[in-house]
Amino acid sequence: MTAITIDGNAVAAKIRNECRERVKRLVARGATPPGLAVILVGSDPASEVYVRNKIRACNDVGIRSLELRFPPDVSQQVVVEKIEDLNQDPSIHGILVQLPLPPSFDIAKILHTISVEKDVDGFHLYNVGGLVAGGTVFPPCTPYGVVKLLEHERIPIEGKNVVVVGASNIVGKPMALMLMQHEATVSICHAKTRDLAQFTILADILIVAAGRPRLILPEMVRTGAVVIDVGINRLKDGTLVGDVDYAGVAAKASYITPVPGGVGPMTVSMLLYNTIGSCERWQQQVTIPIPTSGISSLVAAN
Ligand code: NAP
Repeated sequence: MTAITIDGNAVAAKIRNECRERVKRLVARGATPPGLAVILVGSDPASEVYVRNKIRACNDVGIRSLELRFPPDVSQQVVVEKIEDLNQDPSIHGILVQLPLPPSFDIAKILHTISVEKDVDGFHLYNVGGLVAGGTVFPPCTPYGVVKLLEHERIPIEGKNVVVVGASNIVGKPMALMLMQHEATVSICHAKTRDLAQFTILADILIVAAGRPRLILPEMVRTGAVVIDVGINRLKDGTLVGDVDYAGVAAKASYITPVPGGVGPMTVSMLLYNTIGSCERWQQQVTIPIPTSGISSLVAAN
């Protein structure tokens, strides 16, 4: 068997075309164009690239972007106050804080300062809770991109055995929850999972987000499985690879995503998608029943 390669660039481009049309429709109705604020603290080289790509993607579809840069020694309070200002700014519909933040920062405090209505990355407790209980406002971009890829390829999720390798708050856990919402049977593996292969071999759909090159070898994959590689690893020679032994696994799987050109381009497209959705909700004055004071006190208690 030779797997069909899922072309993330092509699917992401389709979503961007859809985004462009939605922005045009909003503007034609006399609305303010969607606005995304991107906050970058410090000068981590990878973060610089990610922020540049996000700003470029916004320009590409007509989203107004606002890039806010702070030196690495900025106080957390200054960033919190800036987010509070952006929460009140009617021209901003999405606020994103590029991670990682300097070690002195309390990431949870920063993420929970972002208004739930503008949390386009989907990292606020309310949005995370929505994945568990239903009613998600913004699905987190990378797992959302994976679901869109599966839907685009018409790969059924309901009733399938899905194994997610990686259990981070940003990728693995929300991925598992989203697929549970789609009625898959989901197992989550992590660094302390004993004998990873005994789980991965059972997967109809295997999603890998561990950040370990060649973690998944052909003998760990069931013939005909769908394999989605979220990992991005830079090897010493500069090559970019995922977590899956692509050539070996492609000979066994039914579908596979490449790295680069698989999940990566989808993440940025889903950020645009969420930002436009936020602007549309704003225009339609759709309110989200959010117990803000409850969430603030919960965060403060932690
Ligand atoms: P992370 O926070 O470092 O989490 C990695 C997860 O993988 C953890 O749950 C860890 O387990 C688990 N893990 C590590 N080694 C493992 C092993 N040998 N066997 C099984 N599980 C193992 O990373 P992340 O932010 O989730 O990102 C994961 C990968 O996806 C990275 O390569 C990252 O660059 C990539 N990524 C790609 C995109 C995209 O747009 N394509 C977006 C985000 C991230 P423990 O919990 O036990 O430590």
